[in-house]
Amino acid sequence: MRWSQLHVPTLRDDPAEAEVVSHKLLLRAGYIRQLSAGLYCYLYLAKRSLNKIERIIRQEMDAIGAQEIYTPELHPADVWKESGRWQAIGGDMFRLKDRWGREHCLGMTEEEVVTFIARGELRSYKQLPQIWYQIQAKFRDEPRPKSGLMRVRRFTMKDSYTFDMDAAGLDAAYKKHYRAYCRIFDRCGLDYLAVDAHSGAMGGSESCEFMVPSPAGEDWIVECPASGYRANLEKAVTTAKPPAVPDPAGDAGLEEFQTPGKKTIEEVSEFDGCPPSSHIKAMVMAADGKPLMALLRGDHQLSETKLAVETGATRIRSAHAEEIDQWLGAGAGYVGPVGAGDLTLLADSALEGRRNLITGANRDGYHLRNVTPGRDFQARFADLREAEDGDFDIASGEPVRRLKAIEVGHIFKLGYKYSASMGLKVLDENGKGVNPIMGSYGIGVERVLTGAIEQNADSVGMSLPVSIAPFEAVVTPVNLKNSAQREAAERLYRQLETAGVDVLLDDRAERAGVKFKDADLIGIPFRVTVGRKIGDGLVELTERRTRESRDAAVGEIAKLLTQRIGEVMPVAESRN
Ligand code: ATP
Ligand code: MG
Repeated sequence: MRWSQLHVPTLRDDPAEAEVVSHKLLLRAGYIRQLSAGLYCYLYLAKRSLNKIERIIRQEMDAIGAQEIYTPELHPADVWKESGRWQAIGGDMFRLKDRWGREHCLGMTEEEVVTFIARGELRSYKQLPQIWYQIQAKFRDEPRPKSGLMRVRRFTMKDSYTFDMDAAGLDAAYKKHYRAYCRIFDRCGLDYLAVDAHSGAMGGSESCEFMVPSPAGEDWIVECPASGYRANLEKAVTTAKPPAVPDPAGDAGLEEFQTPGKKTIEEVSEFDGCPPSSHIKAMVMAADGKPLMALLRGDHQLSETKLAVETGATRIRSAHAEEIDQWLGAGAGYVGPVGAGDLTLLADSALEGRRNLITGANRDGYHLRNVTPGRDFQARFADLREAEDGDFDIASGEPVRRLKAIEVGHIFKLGYKYSASMGLKVLDENGKGVNPIMGSYGIGVERVLTGAIEQNADSVGMSLPVSIAPFEAVVTPVNLKNSAQREAAERLYRQLETAGVDVLLDDRAERAGVKFKDADLIGIPFRVTVGRKIGDGLVELTERRTRESRDAAVGEIAKLLTQRIGEVMPVAESRN
């Protein structure tokens, strides 16, 4: 490719609307342009990188015997009604009607559609196992599209689905995916962690997320370096001994005070002048439908996983406004443990022994002060709060830490949810109809690119791994007016192409400095500069990562470059 003929609209400055590094660089380097919130157009460079990521994904999926299919992005509502998810999924689903008024949606995932196909096709255990995958657009009406390509309303997902006769079969399919995902992310040059996304204590199916640690991430991982424990914060179970905080002084009894319009801990705290840690956060929850109140220190967060473990419930949710009103006669912002009727009270252990706290009065517009657990209300104490830095790992007793991360992939043992609800059955060896057991596995293709940019950027631009950079090398003549340089650059460009290098020729009539800057910004791993030394048969080879340069004989450059590309090409590590 010749740069003079491409549209690569690089920008000199960071765009004002971008916060995270990958968003800034994707715009500045001319990879993407926004159509509207969460909708992006991919220009040439983005498409090239994404194609390379998809190619790696295809190779590794094919290697585990997965068959590539394609299903429409537009789905009839019927299949989603069969699984129950038409009702269960809320605003994240884009819904529309066709000209006849029939309901449809844009696919956000494809379990229903593949189960529909399988139901029409699979008849016998002899046809199993099956692994089907596709690389296809997904649509989610995210409440807060942000960070460029990281959280968008239309993205590209590699999704695959497995059908097996029994749990052992599903386990084998799951492990194949686990290993394929490791190879994919290794080859894309990502530094990633595989993280437990399922709560062992709650039972249920196995699930694992592939996370790229980065300050730009929206997920939190809890990790214990000593034991190797790693879990998504939403699922992490640790033991906690939070540092003590002082109680408000005094021996006064309960006192109600007005807090009109102040509902959140922050609002009440600002209003009454006491820190959030002197407040009790009261959350009305339903555990398998049963009402309870979870109580936490005002600056702590509830871990629904720990609450589920404590109550033995399989489904925990926040109570609806009407339920709260019915149970306590007040809005969610004004509830508290004093006079909470029949509700079970569960308090986080950080509240044990505390005195003179502030909490809701179970009366709209009022709170109570001088609330002392044990004196003013009786609760069962348990560890309920979300893991924090300095909590302890259950297995090793060693401290954990929290890391921010970007979720790039997710593998999940689905079980029988879709085959049972949608009536997918095959005959087993005894001629009996049984539901196959399923798995579902996703990779966010754009997230692989954004993760790689976040992890490989410096002050002058992105520095993508050679496997997924839009080009592997650029040949840059310093002075196009000099015929020796121009002709040598042309020859070199053709030679490198013949040698199999994915190479770009920067034949723009720009100053050398501009060309160097652009190449560094868009992140081409190698630059071959053809300048004055061409008179002595020499060119310069510069590596983007280290920004080191060396002279090389023009006749040797193809060999040297292919060798260096081979050396820096990320490879899959072998894993079990
Ligand atoms: P998140 O928690 O980030 O919203 P998710 O858990 O809902 O993601 P999955 O349903 O597991 O996502 O989808 C599989 C993969 O698709 C994710 O691991 C992620 O890489 C990617 N993905 C999901 N939502 C988005 C989005 N809005 N924009 C870009 N990629 C996404
Ligand atoms: Mg996920």
